[in-house]
Amino acid sequence: MAKAQGYDLSFDQHSLKSSQSDKILGLYSYSAMLDGITSSQTKNDPERIQPTLQEMTHKALSVLEKDEDGFFLMVESGQIDWAAHDNDAGTMLHEMIKFSDAINTVMDWMKDRDDTLLIVSADHETGGFGFAYSRNDLPEGKPLAGNVFKGDEFKPQWNFGDLNTLDKIYAQKKSYNNIFREFDTLGKENKTPENLQKIVNENTEFPITLAEARRVLETEENKYRVKGHKYLDSKKFPRFEEREEFFVYGSELRKNLLAMVTGKYSNIVWSTDNHTSTPVYVFAYG
Ligand SMILES: [Zn+2]
Repeated sequence: MAKAQGYDLSFDQHSLKSSQSDKILGLYSYSAMLDGITSSQTKNDPERIQPTLQEMTHKALSVLEKDEDGFFLMVESGQIDWAAHDNDAGTMLHEMIKFSDAINTVMDWMKDRDDTLLIVSADHETGGFGFAYSRNDLPEGKPLAGNVFKGDEFKPQWNFGDLNTLDKIYAQKKSYNNIFREFDTLGKENKTPENLQKIVNENTEFPITLAEARRVLETEENKYRVKGHKYLDSKKFPRFEEREEFFVYGSELRKNLLAMVTGKYSNIVWSTDNHTSTPVYVFAYG
């Protein structure tokens, strides 16, 4: 149908790049496109099939700029929200980098123009993300330099997190989603805390203990069961020690429990697995 309307159909990055049409319909996945981490890992891979968000943005601009009446372009980096639902900071960071690459492309395109407005915002916050200080693993005092402070130490009262925390978050090799996908492909007898610990520790920079892996896999009776409900029908839910009402997505919640047990190592806190009313930023440029 689209073809009959004069659209070029594109199913991979090469056909998108080479299309000369002013109308392109690009379809690259049945549902989600590559997650942020995979996207970062394959950015420079010539075998990559899907175009990146940046490549799609670039192509959209090069087609739309031909329109003499001007244009409106909407670019969404939709999986920032999904990563935040999973409380998966590593994937969220790579999703934000993916989005940042796309914004850079727009800003480059705008550079010598005075007729364009770029607005960046979000439709809502998800997860209630924050870095926070903690009382876990307080830092050692360090001697201060100079004569004035001779004999004195600099000793933070709390653990404010390491400066390399962002590097560690960035170094995550697999999304929480793919970590549990790998775990779920194991046979029933191999879905053990030991194996979960192994997969998590191979793919993240915040290693968990065996007790923590056990904690992530604990379940309890779903007190809020609703028969026929897409998420609430299951009898068992991953076990939250408190505020379980604010974690709603059934077996997906193992990911949120993983985030919870690693929070004391990453100084990351999340408040829910769903959308919040926290105000969002609006940036405008142009
Ligand atoms: Zn959402």
